[in-house]
Amino acid sequence: MASILFGPVNSRRFGKSLGIDLSPYKKQCNFDCLYCELEPAKTMDHYEDVISVDEIIEALQKGIKEHPDIDVITLTANGEPTLYPYLGELIDRINQIKGEKQTLILSNGSTIADPSVQNALLKLDRVKLSLDCGTDTCLKRLDRAHKGITIGEIMSGMLEFRSKYDKPLIIEILIVRTLNDKPEEISKLNEFLLKLRPTRIDMGTIDRPPAYDVKPVSYEELLAISHQFDASLPLYIVSRHKSAVRASSYSDEEIVHTLANRPLTLEDIESLFDEASKKRFEILLKDGKLKMIQSNGVEFYKKA
Ligand code: SF4
Repeated sequence: MASILFGPVNSRRFGKSLGIDLSPYKKQCNFDCLYCELEPAKTMDHYEDVISVDEIIEALQKGIKEHPDIDVITLTANGEPTLYPYLGELIDRINQIKGEKQTLILSNGSTIADPSVQNALLKLDRVKLSLDCGTDTCLKRLDRAHKGITIGEIMSGMLEFRSKYDKPLIIEILIVRTLNDKPEEISKLNEFLLKLRPTRIDMGTIDRPPAYDVKPVSYEELLAISHQFDASLPLYIVSRHKSAVRASSYSDEEIVHTLANRPLTLEDIESLFDEASKKRFEILLKDGKLKMIQSNGVEFYKKA
């Protein structure tokens, strides 16, 4: 039998997380993304199979008892968690029992213009929303959104939510070869993210078998795409392909120039810089030419 709880899993960015699956029995989503890890399924704008709040809370109480050391309770689904009809009530009940633990939701962002979804999400400690597209064409082709969902509505909903929510808001972008890797699409996303000012942007590519025949981009391509975003955006490249990158030699000027254009994490630096360049990086850091900044659990290095 499918389980409501999963994990705990260790995430470097969020800590030890216990997941709640709000749709444990089948995929229920208003998107049918080409890169989805789940089987393709028809889209829907509401859940057909709904589990009760009591059932979820009972499972969570057991989970917390078994794993008292978890940092985060993560709301997710085989599909889209904000389509769960009792989301606000569920979050109220979780908040009554969570103690010091943080709460987080992983949503595809499609319902964020809905006032009841906004009100529910305002009660969470962190919110992570996906945003793969800057245009309706992309939303239709890549995320295969349910009829009636538009990028304009998603973006205005995100801006409205951001104006009320002062806790960490993370935006996730998944880049898929030939679908949303073009400069026109990236420039639309960049323009919007400069208005939204999320706490952090996680940009990655496909790293698990996708539902449809679509291809990832390489780490080098992700890096090149990251340079098309404004340097002031806290963009973090999430990729399992980093280890495949050949480390290169960077002069002092190149290091400063690279980090002025795009802040990098130590993990990025480990992959991109050869040993001599890493030493030069450390010296520049010690000399105050570079500095470290924290962005919601991730350390970035940038030009001082
Ligand atoms: S939003 Fe998530 S669950 Fe829904 S189709 Fe896309 S990847 Fe799959």
